[in-house]
Amino acid sequence: MERGARRALIVAVARDVIAHADELNRLDQAIGDGDHGTNVRRGFEAVLAEVDDLAGMSESGALAAAGMLLLNNVGGASGPLYGTLALSMARNLPGTTGISGWIEAFGLAIEDVKRRGKSEPGQKTLLDVLVPVHTSLVAGDDAAVARLASVAENAAEATRSMLAVRGRAAFLGQRSVGHVDPGARSASLIFGAIGRVLVEEFDGK
Ligand code: ADP
Ligand code: MG
Repeated sequence: MERGARRALIVAVARDVIAHADELNRLDQAIGDGDHGTNVRRGFEAVLAEVDDLAGMSESGALAAAGMLLLNNVGGASGPLYGTLALSMARNLPGTTGISGWIEAFGLAIEDVKRRGKSEPGQKTLLDVLVPVHTSLVAGDDAAVARLASVAENAAEATRSMLAVRGRAAFLGQRSVGHVDPGARSASLIFGAIGRVLVEEFDGK
């Protein structure tokens, strides 16, 4: 991916998350403490402020730098998890090649997020988007990237019926059921934006 495309990808993800901060706060008001949108907005504003530097780095370098920015700026429970996702991908990407290398690094990073959060899919967290998105990419057919946004959005929506057993929402027990998980929603915004930019990138070739 060229510098211009890398920049466009980072800008698209950051802007999408920032634009939905109020919605993410509302979701977190229902089953948490109402700050998820504010948290991820702060993180992605920090990323956006560095976008020209990030776009000039290697893919692994950019992921590591973005991961540190998320780790240092998002805060909450989600900051270390999104930070871990990006930092672990940065660590696992070198030595791999092509799209399959990205998918492999993403899979290893998800394992690190699970360890960090002591969590598994099915517990109403951002993992309930990360894992289905990864599974869909592993399927590996030509439509996998085009499908990314809808897979991510459907996966976030599917957290509505789940019972939270991790994070603040777990304190609500059964009352957590009936609400979309804020972290799952932010993950769906991130991967939806990635999917849309990659489709444009491939279409233009
Ligand atoms: P906090 O809960 O500290 O206020 P945020 O509101 O920024 O942090 O993030 C909440 C989101 O973080 C949840 O919606 C959930 O998706 C995710 N989350 C919280 N704890 C965990 C965990 N142990 N494992 C995976 N994801 C988690
Ligand atoms: Mg919160």
